[in-house]
Amino acid sequence: MAEWIVHALARLREQTADWKQQGLRVGVVPTMGALHAGHLSLVEAARRDCDRVITTIFVNPTQFGPGEDLDRYPRTLERDAELVGDDGRTLIYAPAADSIYPPGFSTYIEPPAVARRWEGARRPGHFRGVTTVVLKLLLRTAADAAYFGAKDFQQAAVIRRMVADLDVPTEIRVEPTVRDPDGLALSSRNAYLSPRERERALGLSRALGTAADLVAAGERHVATIEAAMRGALEAVGVDEIDYAVVVDADSLEPASELPPEAVALIAARVGATWLIDNQRLRARPLHA
Ligand code: AMP
Repeated sequence: MAEWIVHALARLREQTADWKQQGLRVGVVPTMGALHAGHLSLVEAARRDCDRVITTIFVNPTQFGPGEDLDRYPRTLERDAELVGDDGRTLIYAPAADSIYPPGFSTYIEPPAVARRWEGARRPGHFRGVTTVVLKLLLRTAADAAYFGAKDFQQAAVIRRMVADLDVPTEIRVEPTVRDPDGLALSSRNAYLSPRERERALGLSRALGTAADLVAAGERHVATIEAAMRGALEAVGVDEIDYAVVVDADSLEPASELPPEAVALIAARVGATWLIDNQRLRARPLHA
């Protein structure tokens, strides 16, 4: 395998030390692989802002709960490497699981309060795994900037808070969600959907569109917006709704009136696949 795909920590450290000595700005894009255009938009953003880019590919076992899809999560390293492309300043770091979690590993991050609801409640332990692996990857890569997708809105909020609370000297950048032309947010888990399930999965982006339309029309009552989102999800026949809510975009806490900075968050199951999506909602000031 080509030299720009690195598995060993010692080799990664050698490379990043060399870059630092040259005064180069290093960006990191943490991923679990099975890359799609959403991931690649993060790589492009990092290439724009940084001199060197590290794309990490690691299916992190500690962020999966019992009975989740850890075993069947797609692993496609060679194809991922091709998609990222060797431009001479991008490195792929794909550590082995026992490098990240060697025997005796037992220290975890306690996630911040913003991790408590929504995905944190639906997937107990998930954000503990995410924060722990992201902190390790930030330390291993010593990156100046790290790139995350708005697709995982709560994850980005959790990481921002962790980095601020623990004085991690890495700038956190959050890039817009990349969607298929029909609105479906790209996700490695979309590969699990049958063609008919994929149709039903469009319910998530449609429900978010309904919420945005209502806000644009002047609706400020959160319960009304949430009921319309549920209606849109039920209309396409999603199999289960875990949450379809409008919350404060910073704290992710519920509110009864639309907060000035709001976000609509959805988690819904289609067949056996849990999907999440979100959209920022901004009320235009009402003119007298
Ligand atoms: P994952 O491989 O699913 O852990 O995702 C790795 C990174 O890619 C995370 O920061 C995600 O938020 C981001 N990401 C996943 N899907 C998208 C998308 N459709 N658009 C933008 N970023 C995404």
